Amino acid sequence: MLDRLPVIAWTAGPDGAWDYVNARWASRTGASAEQARGRGWVALVHPEDADRCAQAWTEAVRSGQPFEAEARLAVAGGGHRWHLGRAQKEAGGDGRWVGTWTDIEDLKRVQGLDEQALKEDQAARAEAEAANRAKDEFLAMISHELRTPLGAILIWSQLLRNEKMDEAGTARALGMIERSTKTLAKLIDDLLDVSRIIAGKLRLDSRPVQLGPVIDAAVEAAQPDAEAKGLRIDRTLPTETVMVSGDPVRLQQVVGNLLSNAIKFTPEGGRLALVVEATATHARITVTDTGAGIPPEFLPFIFERFRQAETASTRRNKGLGLGLAISRHLVELHGGTIEAASAGEGRGSTFTVTVPLVHASSADAVGHPAVRGEWPAHGGSLDGVRVLVVDDESDARDALALVLERCGAKVTVAASAAEGLAAWRREPHDVLLSDIAMPGEDGYSLMRKVAASRTDGKPVPAAAVTAYATTEDRQRALEAGYRDHLSKPVDPGVLVATVAKLAGRSVALRATIYPSLRA
Ligand code: ADP
Repeated sequence: MLDRLPVIAWTAGPDGAWDYVNARWASRTGASAEQARGRGWVALVHPEDADRCAQAWTEAVRSGQPFEAEARLAVAGGGHRWHLGRAQKEAGGDGRWVGTWTDIEDLKRVQGLDEQALKEDQAARAEAEAANRAKDEFLAMISHELRTPLGAILIWSQLLRNEKMDEAGTARALGMIERSTKTLAKLIDDLLDVSRIIAGKLRLDSRPVQLGPVIDAAVEAAQPDAEAKGLRIDRTLPTETVMVSGDPVRLQQVVGNLLSNAIKFTPEGGRLALVVEATATHARITVTDTGAGIPPEFLPFIFERFRQAETASTRRNKGLGLGLAISRHLVELHGGTIEAASAGEGRGSTFTVTVPLVHASSADAVGHPAVRGEWPAHGGSLDGVRVLVVDDESDARDALALVLERCGAKVTVAASAAEGLAAWRREPHDVLLSDIAMPGEDGYSLMRKVAASRTDGKPVPAAAVTAYATTEDRQRALEAGYRDHLSKPVDPGVLVATVAKLAGRSVALRATIYPSLRA
């Protein structure tokens, strides 16, 4: 009867020795009944499963409990297939065993696929969790980086308000507030730059540029921090003019980044050197310091985003690990290269930037990088200029008015687009400065109405002053009719220069920072 079963069937004596196999055994395994006898069947089990399977059988025979095992059995024609082995002791009788081997190969294959899918699923989940953790760490880091300067601003401004401070104390407090504000602006600049890079939207405003003044401006901007740590920056420039094709603000940003890192990672008493050389085809800028150095295992990753030599919890240095990633992107947009070298920890670092030279007449060249103002040099440079300032936030309005009035402008303020439009129609103004996002009616709408009210068809001398700082925001403002776009926080010098330009005046400024204030 067992011969007719569609599975391998067998019987064994009470001692566990096989004494019968059905016909299926021979057709399936290609082995004879004789080969299965006693414990001979074990030889047909895959070597990796044989011991486990034989032990399970021995244990079943010893205990009298049912036998069950999965094992690969050699099959006729070669290879193995998974089988499920089961056997039971006959109840009541003389303790003989009856068992079967059922082919479960197909089932196993499906299970295998399931397991594979499960593994892939788990890997995808682990990856998503890691990305999520990285995002959380990043947000924690950003909020820490933002809170530190914000905390300083809050404390020092409260001290200024509540304590009687002498002149030196006041100067110190104001210096702290100014530095913290610049730190905040720089952080936001970096974040915006990174998001532009990720979106592929970072563009250069390229033209022939003299490298010398760009380097000078970067060194000048870094000087106060270097001096505060007692570090001198040795600068070596070639006597001839070095001309490259590029965006002066972005080039200054790259050099500024390298300098600020060199200052940050070099202890007091160290030395910094900046050397510019011209080869036949390239300008080479080298920034060397005698500071912390870079561990060799970190060097390959140094230009990656959010990479810092220390982990988040042990970080001693401020920053988000974005500066070098941005610098590399900027240099590559210029068709150049940037490299880092260090003899190891504590042994200083060298960063080398190369940018292709151009041969243009110096008449086309921009001598100065885009001018970022400090406090405007001439108090009266806006004498008599009538400016209308429209902003729904009174603090922002008052700050703009204060700066402009100090330079001699006559300022009218308005708290909404409607008020602004009424003021513009009521009396003549030379310049309009307007916020963009305002409740009710926005600055775009105001601009269109003001432009429409103009009978001579000339462009309105107007600039948008807004926290919308991306290139697209700037584009939108220009399309709406604004002649310029300043992003908040506005550098006072830039503000005065912009108003002067719109009013047809000229004003002298000293250079500093903030690329995104321009963008
Ligand atoms: P951040 O300075 O904000 O951390 P960067 O991208 O500018 O970001 O620098 C990334 C990391 O590279 C730094 O955190 C530091 O570990 C290392 N690094 C950069 N410049 C120097 C340098 N001059 N000396 C030593 N390490 C440096």
